[in-house]
Amino acid sequence: MSPHRLDVLDLTAHRCRELLEAGDVSATELARLYLHRIAAVDGAVQAYLLVDEEGALAKAAAVDAKPRGERLPWEGVPIGLKDIFCVKGMETTCGSRILKGYHPPYDATIIGKLRAAGLVFLGKLNMDEFAMGSSTENSAFQTTHNPWDLERVPGGSSGGSAACVAAAEAPWALGTDTGGSIRQPASLCGVVGLKPTYGAVSRYGLVAFASSLDQIGPLTRDVKDAAALLDIIAGRDPRDSTSIGLPEPVGTPSRTDLEGLRFGVIKEFIGEACEPGVREVFDSAVEMISSLGGVCEEVSLPSVEQGIAAYYLIAPSEASSNLARFDGVRYGHRASGADDLYEMYTRTRSEGFGPEVKRRIMIGTYALSAGYYDAYYAQAQRTRTLIIRDFAGAFDRFDFLVSPTSPSVAFKIGEKTADPLAMYLSDLCTIPVNLAGLPGISVPAGFSQGLPVGLQIIGPHFSEKGMLGAAHALEQRLALPLVPPLAEVAR
Ligand code: GLN
Repeated sequence: MSPHRLDVLDLTAHRCRELLEAGDVSATELARLYLHRIAAVDGAVQAYLLVDEEGALAKAAAVDAKPRGERLPWEGVPIGLKDIFCVKGMETTCGSRILKGYHPPYDATIIGKLRAAGLVFLGKLNMDEFAMGSSTENSAFQTTHNPWDLERVPGGSSGGSAACVAAAEAPWALGTDTGGSIRQPASLCGVVGLKPTYGAVSRYGLVAFASSLDQIGPLTRDVKDAAALLDIIAGRDPRDSTSIGLPEPVGTPSRTDLEGLRFGVIKEFIGEACEPGVREVFDSAVEMISSLGGVCEEVSLPSVEQGIAAYYLIAPSEASSNLARFDGVRYGHRASGADDLYEMYTRTRSEGFGPEVKRRIMIGTYALSAGYYDAYYAQAQRTRTLIIRDFAGAFDRFDFLVSPTSPSVAFKIGEKTADPLAMYLSDLCTIPVNLAGLPGISVPAGFSQGLPVGLQIIGPHFSEKGMLGAAHALEQRLALPLVPPLAEVAR
């Protein structure tokens, strides 16, 4: 097949692999196809912070130089990376001025795994600064636009990753999820987003935001690709003592029914905060679960309503500690002209961090300070325990829990920037999942106002295999047309 007849919009990572294996396309042709697509649409979408054309073509050429029979399964398949992973020698900014110009001297563990699998890195993707945000508007460099409506946000913080996959600027991408940052942008951009169980994937070489919550996961065009990428990156790593890996590879999901499965519909996530259009799509997804043989019943998890409050004490507390390392001495930006060390620290951090990051550092420092610790941080941890128990109770009765991923469709750029609390509400349905360390997936479930709406499936710890199977069954039945209207901007 001539590569000119290939349309990136038809490609998943599995399809790329098949074409490479059959010799219908070379790794170089495939890399060029995506580089052309990026050149055509990224001016409008602005998903990429850095496109590594040279590196991608060099890697692709190395793959092409190998006989096909000797290649690994995913060798030559391109991928996009959130700019939060350390890639040796490749600028890693985490969306922040303070890391501008930082070239890590080592690879994150997951990057090493991607390299070992032979993937081709297309570049680094935009994100909210230090992954704090739900819209990419907190990036120090650019705001990414939603491919379904360029006046709207792609969600965040992995908004660059979600928009890139939706716009077919890479067949798949990696993101991170601390409170919803994979699932919420996946929902808003009409792609699949998977947050694995806490501990499934090593965070060594991931710029840390809130260490008791952060997880790395795939953003893909379908469920099969999400499963494959998870199998590539999962595993215990002695360099991340919180990692444990998965009990077994998830394999290729093939399930097409939901017979024998019980689904709990989380009552607290379909209340007033949920837009009517989102609720409609969600209700029809629940009907579809039943039509596939699943049993759906409402379940109440009263403590999840405190999820946002607990998260906005725990995550900033951990962030205030994690971000102490950015002091101008060892990484990235250093303010010039200071008279003494203290002034250098102060000026570096004042210049280097954006307003949302400063807000979180201040909240976190306050919540951890002597005299306030018990009232704020410790109280939030007690709330977290209640949330963990509520989920555990629900999983005694149900195999999986479901909710909308986000209470709203993609909102307009600028709509929520003046009101941090309104922005924080975007993660109402996703945050409790991180607090409990559970796996969650967002799958496109339909449209409201012409914009994608995601369904969230939550499973017990390490139930990824079953969860992906259920997601696959739904995806096959839904068979949604997931091509955003970018034709008019493509150059
Ligand atoms: N939007 C949430 C926040 O701002 C979650 C971010 C994330 O998951 N990284 O903290």
